[in-house]
Amino acid sequence: MLKKESSESLAAGCSLAKRCGGCVYQGISYKDQLKIKQKEVGKCLKEFCAVKPIIGMENPYHYRNKVHAVFDREKNGTIISGVYEKNSHRVVPVDACMIEDVVADAIIRDIRKMLKSFKIKTYDEDTHYGLLRHVLVRRGFTSGEVLVVLVLSSPILPSKNNFVKALRTLHPEITSVVLNVNDKKTSMVLGEREIVLYGKGYIEDILCGKMFRISPKSFYQVNPVQTEVLYQKVMDLARLTGKERVLDAYCGIGTIGIVASGRAKEVIGVELNSDAVRDAWTNAKRNQVKNISFYQNDAGRFMTTMAENGGKVDVVFMDPPRGGSDEAFLSAMVKLSPKRIVYISCNPQTQARDLRYLVKKGYEAKEAWPVDMFPWTDSVETVCQLDLRKPAVHAEH
Ligand code: SAH
Repeated sequence: MLKKESSESLAAGCSLAKRCGGCVYQGISYKDQLKIKQKEVGKCLKEFCAVKPIIGMENPYHYRNKVHAVFDREKNGTIISGVYEKNSHRVVPVDACMIEDVVADAIIRDIRKMLKSFKIKTYDEDTHYGLLRHVLVRRGFTSGEVLVVLVLSSPILPSKNNFVKALRTLHPEITSVVLNVNDKKTSMVLGEREIVLYGKGYIEDILCGKMFRISPKSFYQVNPVQTEVLYQKVMDLARLTGKERVLDAYCGIGTIGIVASGRAKEVIGVELNSDAVRDAWTNAKRNQVKNISFYQNDAGRFMTTMAENGGKVDVVFMDPPRGGSDEAFLSAMVKLSPKRIVYISCNPQTQARDLRYLVKKGYEAKEAWPVDMFPWTDSVETVCQLDLRKPAVHAEH
């Protein structure tokens, strides 16, 4: 790990901040960043319920366990790796970053240095010539396992065994290397096909005392330290007694549902990404959780069918992507009328929109807790508890 001091000096003067567009709160003290986020969540949610004090990080540096670098060549032939400049497809070279994992950054730098001797050309988006498009590194902060994904425009990596060997000599901490084939003219990073070059093809990591397998294409929270804080809050708010039937909607690799399974009668998870659902089943087995099942489906469609079939659910966890949920999901939720909803969101604006719907249809928002999962950026996570309002008791006569 870099020393905190050096991270702080980087923070004071990350020369790339403007072009990269990631750390928009560059130059603002961490304390003030938290104040800004508190205000933002307050603005969106205070009409519904009390917004509690934001939970920040003790050490808000190098928290990202997943690092993605795009590769390119400058006009003079120099190979660069980094991020796309904001709103463009120009690559800003990045060597080190104050929010990314330092091990991952070092691996990416070394891959860049190895390309010339292995005669690996970087991919050119305009001409579609060249091989290496992106590198993705994921590190399990607790397990120490490291997965490197090489995104190539072709399934053939010349001298692949020597390449992997040379990379592992430099970084013996790497536990798996995967070749991902992306031969499409697309701005998507990962293609469909995967070839495992070394190791098991995924990493495992421990979160809230449970072991999780994470495949290259599955979603996994990027800040594991704060994820534990967030999940703890989620569990506190749910107040499960062991008797409930619980739904974990937008469940990813099943993390929330598996953490909740010991305090519920039964858990069902629904998730669109089939790789994540496969991971979720493996994770349930791995942790000997027997009262959970997962369904690969659109959450809205799944809920609608459940409501039509007279399904019963007591508590719903929902953790949709940035765009929030949809009417199909929310209207089915109202029909199913669970007694409690715990809504986790990385976008307070869409969360406010969805809360408005639920509050209008019989729910009462109880409290909201912002958690800072993304220091130095303007993103903020919020978990909100909603309870079904008790039907009004009509006095007779
Ligand atoms: N709860 C998980 C994942 C949250 S991220 C965790 O904490 O790790 C949101 C997840 O929603 C992603 O895994 C994404 O693949 C999934 N998703 C996106 N759209 C969906 C939809 N329409 N129906 C179900 N899942 C969806």
